[in-house]
Amino acid sequence: MNTDDDSGGRMVIVGGGQAAGAALKRLRQLGYPGQVTLVSDETNAPYERPPLSKEYLWGAEQELRWVAPGNDRPNERLAIDRTAVAGDARAKTITCSDGAVLPYDFLLLATGGLPRRLAMPGAALENVHCLRRAGDALALRQSIERCVRARLPLLVVGGSWIGLEVAAGARETGVEVVLVEQGARLCGRTLPPLAARWLQSLHASRGVDLRLETSVASLDGDVAVRSARLSDGTVLPVGAVLVGIGIAPNISLASQLGLLVRSGIVVDRHCRTSAPAIYAAGDVAEQACPWHEGAIRIETWDNANRQGEAAATHIAHMASTTAEPDGAEDSAPPWFWSDQYGTNLQVLGAPTHGDTVLASPPNESEQLFIHLRGDRVVGAIGMNRRHDMRRLRKRMAEHSLLPRAELLQAIPGLS
Ligand SMILES: Cc1cc2nc3c(=O)[nH]c(=O)nc-3n(C[C@H](O)[C@H](O)[C@H](O)COP(=O)(O)OP(=O)(O)OC[C@H]3O[C@@H](n4cnc5c(N)ncnc54)[C@H](O)[C@@H]3O)c2cc1C
Repeated sequence: MNTDDDSGGRMVIVGGGQAAGAALKRLRQLGYPGQVTLVSDETNAPYERPPLSKEYLWGAEQELRWVAPGNDRPNERLAIDRTAVAGDARAKTITCSDGAVLPYDFLLLATGGLPRRLAMPGAALENVHCLRRAGDALALRQSIERCVRARLPLLVVGGSWIGLEVAAGARETGVEVVLVEQGARLCGRTLPPLAARWLQSLHASRGVDLRLETSVASLDGDVAVRSARLSDGTVLPVGAVLVGIGIAPNISLASQLGLLVRSGIVVDRHCRTSAPAIYAAGDVAEQACPWHEGAIRIETWDNANRQGEAAATHIAHMASTTAEPDGAEDSAPPWFWSDQYGTNLQVLGAPTHGDTVLASPPNESEQLFIHLRGDRVVGAIGMNRRHDMRRLRKRMAEHSLLPRAELLQAIPGLS
């Protein structure tokens, strides 16, 4: 890697995921003239992760989806298969695993998160998987194919989005699925009780053996896992295990650089960290969110894109002038989606902050929940309600105060 280029506006992006790719794409759109080096410890250019638990996992899509497609520009270097192992905020350098030292004028940390592992006997056996990277999806697919051949169940540990998506896909390929969740409801961090119950019924109706308030005590086998002992004493034969129990933000470089870190790297609305010229974006960043009434780390595709773009926009601006940019705060509500059994689920805003809920008439194939705090809409959850969710997303972004009366008029059937 050439490290001699000392022209102004040198930017180093550490990370090869959604936020890093979104930043690179935005820099291209803005015609950023400086040298941009993207350091990623993966073997691919930045790609989208959502298909890894959906189309890509089941082979319906063979290719990865690139976040910043197209050929590299002359001022870009994709330093893939390299880890940024050290950083010096005073000297403004990043050191890579191959020994290269990259000087920067601007640094973006988009290091994402590392999947949490089970801390118990058997957690490192073959056929015990996590799902974060393309290679994880391919390995999990092979294990699930073995479950099909051996007629053994897939054990999913963790009743949150990734676990549920894999459970849904596995049921559709005819695999028996046991899902254990230590909490009292599915998606306890993101869904209020009514929506969680709807999702629980959906999975139960498709034959997932759901066990709430249950955890795994141990995984047993010689090389590969053969059985799991649950917290209630049950011993289950299993063909493979997917562990979907969340991520820990990848903050090691940030700590070395002396950045302020709480639940993640603390950033302002332009994604600037506590150190000059260092930015952070995506799953690793903690930012104030008016919808959550506080600072929060949001682990979604939309958030990674928005923060990656915001950082790149601010960097491009600061590379050309020292004046702070104008512009209103981004008030768009957080948003994410999930696909399970052909059902499109969307979550908008901060539904768990509501004190009342308006619901559409109960229905197995579609449902809408709107969460209010006092008279104000704070969140919405739609199951196969794409049209309503699109409208709500737009309206919530325009006014953070969406009056209840207007809502009842706009969406008939809510009560
Ligand atoms: C299987 C799966 C399905 C998902 N489905 C959905 C969905 O349906 N809807 C939704 O809204 N969100 C979904 N998400 C979440 C969404 O994809 C993430 O929020 C998003 O990818 C976060 O982007 P990021 O850039 O912050 O982190 P990541 O995409 O994880 O990227 C971080 C990158 O940094 C690299 N890296 C870390 N440290 C270093 C270092 N020191 N040196 C070099 N490289 C480093 C990592 O290898 C990785 O490439 C899903 C996530 C997964 C894993």
